[in-house]
Amino acid sequence: MDNRDLLLEVKNLQTHFRVHGGVVRAVDGVTFQIRRGQTLGVLGESGCGKSVTGYSVLRLVRPPGQIVGGELLFHRAPSANGAQRGAVVDLVKLDPFGREIREIRGAEIAMVFQEPMTSLDPVYTIGDQLAEAVIHHENVSKQIARLRAIESLRRVGLPQPEQAIDKYPHQLSGGMRQRVMIAMALICGPSLLIADEPTTALDVTTEAQILALLRELQADFGMAIMFITHNLGVIAEMAEEVIVMYLGSVVEQADVKTLFRAPKHPYTKALMRSIPRLGQKSHERLNAIQGMVPAPSDIPTGCPFHPRCPEAIPGLCNVKLPPLIQIGDRHTVRCLLFEENPTG
Ligand code: SF4
Repeated sequence: MDNRDLLLEVKNLQTHFRVHGGVVRAVDGVTFQIRRGQTLGVLGESGCGKSVTGYSVLRLVRPPGQIVGGELLFHRAPSANGAQRGAVVDLVKLDPFGREIREIRGAEIAMVFQEPMTSLDPVYTIGDQLAEAVIHHENVSKQIARLRAIESLRRVGLPQPEQAIDKYPHQLSGGMRQRVMIAMALICGPSLLIADEPTTALDVTTEAQILALLRELQADFGMAIMFITHNLGVIAEMAEEVIVMYLGSVVEQADVKTLFRAPKHPYTKALMRSIPRLGQKSHERLNAIQGMVPAPSDIPTGCPFHPRCPEAIPGLCNVKLPPLIQIGDRHTVRCLLFEENPTG
């Protein structure tokens, strides 16, 4: 990979929560990279640390959560406010309330959430909220900011943007609110968009429209997307590269075709078996993954997946923590089955 393509390098990120005298290791040694313009899918069940990883990148984790280790090397855009050409910033070292992260958040790294109502303010019109984002990051007049807001609403396909701009969030449908969120996220032209289950609350038709819109905007603006989801269909449609997370760790990473054609980690394989296949008879049962994701405060010994793993080796998997093993070109897996000498 050409180093100039690198946008974000996440190295051994650890984000923990101190609760009731114990420590919840929500993200526990996560490493991955995102290149400019790339879509990285982050896949896993609820409670696997996907969202906390996204919040960590934006430095939005609040007490009792804290980043306790690792690096988040963000390669700033050459034209970014005052940034030197090619400047690399370790986001972990920034004050989460300081000037530099506020400059980056929204302008260079933006986020869309599952439920837009949690991030849209119900007492302000969507126009005010969009314009505020522009005024905050760029020194423009209210009038220019309003024009930019109308243009961005038009770009995300909101009908009659000149009228829609003066509406309040509750006057829009769920799909339209999500379009507004995307407009707000993209209004300053970020180089990275973190999309956290952005279509989970939507019906299937609206979901398809929002995914198509994101792909279209990505092609136009060239931004990278970190797409967090539990939905394999969405991953197949959106991602080029995928990391699969389980209990705060990356257990498999591969390009999307390899992951779907030849998943290697027993957890990834179980996820694949749990989705309906084309041509599957309606009476055939889907294979749900056995058991539940354990509480992150109660991570099993050895391989954290061993209590649910159909391929677990007794006496080994419950004792030994598997390392991340390279099994192909840009294909890694965290499983003892792939170690040359697993008992060594
Ligand atoms: Fe299953 Fe063992 Fe591999 Fe863990 S290390 S995924 S328990 S086979």
